[in-house]
Amino acid sequence: MTQCDYCHQEMPAAISCTHPYLVFVVPGKDPEVLQRKVYPFDEQCRDCGVKHNGIHHFGCAMESCPKCGKQLIACGCFSGGDLWVSRTPALPKNAQYNAVKSRPENISQEISENKPEK
Ligand SMILES: [Zn+2]
Ligand SMILES: [Zn+2]
Ligand SMILES: [Zn+2]
Repeated sequence: MTQCDYCHQEMPAAISCTHPYLVFVVPGKDPEVLQRKVYPFDEQCRDCGVKHNGIHHFGCAMESCPKCGKQLIACGCFSGGDLWVSRTPALPKNAQYNAVKSRPENISQEISENKPEK
């Protein structure tokens, strides 16, 4: 069984992740907090096992981006900073969110190509 790195539940068994917020941190700017998209389909997510209206376990390829609606792990909206997941929309000083681990090589390639020119 695989465990979700963020909520520490067994992935095929847990019906929703427990971290419903994304926190995007760009150095030198205020963190941006966004509500994560819920899984809209009736069948269980074939990637991470969440059920209808559940929140994907972070890193699931089926999660949509709250900004553009495309595949979150590939869309590039959150390039240029660190993306975290959080249990609450508040940002406590001693952060309760977990840093997202490095993304797979082929995906970071795609993201760097989508980066806007400075
Ligand atoms: Zn989870
Ligand atoms: Zn999923
Ligand atoms: Zn996006």
